[in-house]
Amino acid sequence: MAALVETVRGPLEVKLLGPTLMHEHIFVLSTEIQQNYPQTWGDEEARVNDAVTRLNELQAAGVTSLVDLTVLGLGRSISRIARVAEQTNLNIIVATGLYTYNDLPQFFQYRRPRRSIHGEDVLTSFFVDDITKGIANTTVKAAILKCATDVQGMTPDVERVIRAVARAHHATGVPISTHTHAASRSGLDQQRILLEEGVDLNKVIIGHCGDTTDLTYLRILMEHGSTIGMDRFGIESILSFEDRIETVVRLCAEGYSEKMVLSHDAACHNDWLEDDVIRRTGSNWNYLHITKDVIPALRQRGVTEAQIGTMMVDNPLRLLSRVR
Ligand SMILES: [Zn+2]
Repeated sequence: MAALVETVRGPLEVKLLGPTLMHEHIFVLSTEIQQNYPQTWGDEEARVNDAVTRLNELQAAGVTSLVDLTVLGLGRSISRIARVAEQTNLNIIVATGLYTYNDLPQFFQYRRPRRSIHGEDVLTSFFVDDITKGIANTTVKAAILKCATDVQGMTPDVERVIRAVARAHHATGVPISTHTHAASRSGLDQQRILLEEGVDLNKVIIGHCGDTTDLTYLRILMEHGSTIGMDRFGIESILSFEDRIETVVRLCAEGYSEKMVLSHDAACHNDWLEDDVIRRTGSNWNYLHITKDVIPALRQRGVTEAQIGTMMVDNPLRLLSRVR
């Protein structure tokens, strides 16, 4: 039987994924602000149409699949994503998990796992339901898990999320993708907790590794088995285009193309940022930057066609193929 991956439109043969962006967003929203101050969101139809246009442009540029890592804490709305997915042929894969840098929402504060060994965290059961049953009474299933660590480090609630993600991974076999603060090497803390939970780090993508030129750190993450996300192309306020390219070129030359994926961490609309901030963040911070600028620059500096195919097609295929 052919291996399948869940997309918003239903199961897809995993080998049909093709060139895939492994860390993007469609909408990043502050849901409670939006509900109470709807002017911050604007016109629903216009926003949906804008997303459809951008995704169709991406498909026209040769990318066939995109992973939307928008989870709890980032304003996930599956019914809206399903409306977008109906209007584009691009494959959209959605995630479950929780995005926080320090504390969990109050909802989870009073629902702590029982202290017995088998007490399951409500977080884990939410994540497993999203993967096995469908999200929010839809048939759309998540195909990847997400957690985050930032400058605050491994706070008790961040650790709780990572352990819950690890347990949902064991229950379902879907891969794990993370947000990190590369400058403080927080990917290593994530690997430590995931290893304690018995996770095979080959099924883990440590995200935002493209934000640093610290090759020693990146090599260690990969030697531990993880794939690293060179996934913020276009955010030049953190690291320049030149430095982002040079890092990928060097690691390809060292033989690490099988352990890297390329993406932007961009969104069609992100209400965290005012429009002028997005412009300053980098005019290239959009879905088309990799096909338009990044891949040509990599080629020019000696990255081979085979290595580009490995990072854009083979690695996503391998990661999104369930272990069981
Ligand atoms: Zn992201």
